[in-house]
Amino acid sequence: MTRPTRIRLSIAALRHNLSRVRALAPRSRIWAVVKADAYGHGLAAAVRGFVEADGLALVEFDFALRLRELGWRKPVLLLEGAFEAADVGLARTHGFALTVHEARQIDWLAALPPGPPIEVHLKMNTGMNRLGFPPDCCIAAAARLAGLPAVGSVTWMTHFAQADAAPGVADALDRFQAVLPPGPVACSLANSAAIVDYPQTHVDWVRPGIMLYGATPFADRPAASLALRPAMALESRLIAEQRLAAGDTVGYGGAFVAKAPMRVGVVACGYADGYPRHAPTGTPVAVAGVRTRTLGRVSMDMLCVDLEPVPQAGVGDCVQLWGDQIPIDEVAAHAGTIGYELMCAVAPRVARFIED
Ligand SMILES: *Cc1c(COP(=O)(O)O)cnc(C)c1O
Repeated sequence: MTRPTRIRLSIAALRHNLSRVRALAPRSRIWAVVKADAYGHGLAAAVRGFVEADGLALVEFDFALRLRELGWRKPVLLLEGAFEAADVGLARTHGFALTVHEARQIDWLAALPPGPPIEVHLKMNTGMNRLGFPPDCCIAAAARLAGLPAVGSVTWMTHFAQADAAPGVADALDRFQAVLPPGPVACSLANSAAIVDYPQTHVDWVRPGIMLYGATPFADRPAASLALRPAMALESRLIAEQRLAAGDTVGYGGAFVAKAPMRVGVVACGYADGYPRHAPTGTPVAVAGVRTRTLGRVSMDMLCVDLEPVPQAGVGDCVQLWGDQIPIDEVAAHAGTIGYELMCAVAPRVARFIED
């Protein structure tokens, strides 16, 4: 029989979350961010869930080509731009917009033979100190781009380092606005956290990622409080049951010790499926719809759960690791990470089911 470990992907939830972005930023066009295979949800689900988006943004050229194969005809933006000279030709052939964050990428555009122009997002570094031109170099970069026949319209872009917590975006926004040329220029600023908290960053384009998938960009605010719906459920089944006596231990290293006789369920899901190995005893999990907890160490293909709160549960029953019953952000917090990482880490061996 097939191993019961699977993810269910809800197109309705993706659409709902996109409509939440529309409601929050009604005057902006939306780049739905689909990097990392749509945060682990798969591009096939993303193109269906985000049909109403104005464009899709990602970092992988091969996945951008895949979007075209899947029938996506609207704009596509490469968020890290070209990695090598050949990428700019590829972008032009397929009509991809390119981020330009460093001088070499402008050289590649300058070397392009005549042809249709490429849309460019000029990236400014406003404090993340990862990608982007320093603010005082942006005018010169924009001037260079404006002189190139290979370049079409230029949108000014930055990415906030601290939109999800204090001190916020004020400093980055000041730096950005201080160097904008006079007159109308198109801009793109906001990630999910800024979409929720900083309406002043809702300019021509917004770039939501995590919120589209129904998880929170904030450490201290659950996704449900933002009216977002989880699009991914990681589920499996109980494949065994053990009865422990007081003093018995569970799993590698005996990390959990039973204080009293108890029933333990064994779930067909482990770190090789993308469940975090760092999730300790007590991480929430739902068995047959009832919330309980994990016990002991997560192993490669299995993990153990406490069946005491679910006396009726037995082998074959459904287990939800995260999804509509167990927020992914809660699991992530127990494991010392964020929902983003868990979504992206779901392993290829886990079966995918797309639901409307
Ligand atoms: C990933 C990414 C986003 C989306 O960020 P979220 O926090 O997931 O909303 C936006 N812009 C850029 C440049 C990104 O790389």
